[in-house]
Amino acid sequence: MRIEPSGVVLTGVCEVQTAVCQALKPAAITAVWAVPARTQINVCRACLEEKVRDGEWEIPGARIQQRADAAVYSADGELMLVVEVKSNPPAGREAATLWAEKIHRNLIVHAGVPGAPYFMLVGYPRSFFLWRQPFHAGPSGEPDEIHFGPLLEPYCGEIALPGTEEGYEQERIVSRWLEESVHGDHPSAPDAAPAWLQRLFNELSGGTVVRQTPVFA
Ligand SMILES: [Zn+2]
Repeated sequence: MRIEPSGVVLTGVCEVQTAVCQALKPAAITAVWAVPARTQINVCRACLEEKVRDGEWEIPGARIQQRADAAVYSADGELMLVVEVKSNPPAGREAATLWAEKIHRNLIVHAGVPGAPYFMLVGYPRSFFLWRQPFHAGPSGEPDEIHFGPLLEPYCGEIALPGTEEGYEQERIVSRWLEESVHGDHPSAPDAAPAWLQRLFNELSGGTVVRQTPVFA
């Protein structure tokens, strides 16, 4: 959905109310317009960013905060891989791939992820999409590689810390998987990683995984 910012900041309750909402009680919000009907939506900054990161809202010209759910740096400190984790991709290869393309496109257009040679979107828990040179390929690029399989299953049975939010837990599981893969520890996964993923992990071998932080490229 295309969204136009009004530039108006007011005090009120956010109408979107995602899990990260900052205006469940009256707080600073902004009014945006849903195009073409020009319906007004009052939204807080956190929910606005969330809608863009989810691929649902496209706001021409807008930049959102740059962050990564996980990132992998090479042994010599270069940012190599940026990972975004999203839950509940639609069922079916075609629908899931379109969903992934939309999220990838939105993140590139709004500069929501730092530049890195690789961008991976994890459709939690079993969809994996990889783009090579995501900033050079153009925002509408299809994923270069796609894999559907239970790669994260060995990590899912671990006991979550009580009270942890679901999204946080998913990022933790993906980070654990990345860490072990980059360090060459392969737990007895019920299915083997595809060749392209093994090559990627070989390339990143000895690297460092950083989780949910602003990334400094
Ligand atoms: Zn909100």
